[in-house]
Amino acid sequence: MKRDFYIKVNLEFCKRCGICSWICPVNAITTDEFGVPITEDSKCIGCRQCENHCPDFAIDIIEKERTESLG
Ligand code: SF4
Ligand code: SF4
Repeated sequence: MKRDFYIKVNLEFCKRCGICSWICPVNAITTDEFGVPITEDSKCIGCRQCENHCPDFAIDIIEKERTESLG
């Protein structure tokens, strides 16, 4: 079964450092000209490297099925 993930970026915490975009192995996160993360959930493989390396704890990777089953 394919696993789907939701990349949740909390822009209140994000300081636009760009680490998430260069660490993501599948380019599911890029940044705009201001350094604001742009996410593409359909590309995410759930490796959580962005979540683990974000210095501001601004990213949560949420597995969609799990979220739905929790309501
Ligand atoms: S690593 Fe965290 S703080 Fe840096 S741009 Fe990404 S979400 Fe923002
Ligand atoms: S969990 Fe992995 S694949 Fe998904 S956005 Fe983060 S670094 Fe990229």
